[in-house]
Amino acid sequence: MKRITIAIDGFSSCGKSTMAKDLAREIGYIYIDSGAMYRAVTLYCLDNGLFRADGQIDADRLEREMGRIRISFRLNPATGRPDTCLNGTDVEERIRTMEVSAHVSPVAALPFVRQALVAQQQEMGREKGIVMDGRDIGTTVFPDAELKVFVTASPEIRAQRRYDELKAKGQEADYADILQNVKQRDYIDQHREVSPLRRADDALLLDNSHLSIAEQKAWLMEQYKKAVSV
Ligand code: C5P
Repeated sequence: MKRITIAIDGFSSCGKSTMAKDLAREIGYIYIDSGAMYRAVTLYCLDNGLFRADGQIDADRLEREMGRIRISFRLNPATGRPDTCLNGTDVEERIRTMEVSAHVSPVAALPFVRQALVAQQQEMGREKGIVMDGRDIGTTVFPDAELKVFVTASPEIRAQRRYDELKAKGQEADYADILQNVKQRDYIDQHREVSPLRRADDALLLDNSHLSIAEQKAWLMEQYKKAVSV
């Protein structure tokens, strides 16, 4: 069967990773969570003191050190899903904390960070047979993707989902803080100069506010079947 490129973009915590991962596993494609790559760079900055006392990022230093940041993915046999590694260390758990969420959007707005990560993402998708999710996959990383989906849901529903996810992992979570973080990231992601979050003109829109995981999974499979049959 024809192998294609699938780009899934959307707002934070809208469930795009869940549907992207499930689809990739079912159809035997590679799955790449591009947000995990921006989160890993952010974790590097936090671990190495690149945020100043006033919370601003030392962009000059990060630009000098970008070449030392290696991000890779390793299949976790226990979950059957790829874990994110930063310079060889599995950081899958650490990149999902609120601390990283609170710092990631300004890091992702830096043009040299985007340039480096987009180049790696395009390399990963050279052979097609890939599902990638993020903010700029259909617009910048794979503008020629055969299937593009733009996912959205209300900020309140997305904050509730993130809250439930953190609680289920036994992590501290405050709904009001999460809602504020979701809205703040939406704003920064949509208003940055380089590759702002926007729906590609040819992306299918999916508002999953009132869909179950099973329903959105079925919808995506349907779109995949249509895309490979043309
Ligand atoms: O998808 P996730 O919420 O984990 O992404 C974390 C952050 O990384 C986003 O809020 C956004 O600032 C950034 N990001 C991006 N471009 C992507 C994926 C994520 O700017 N392709």
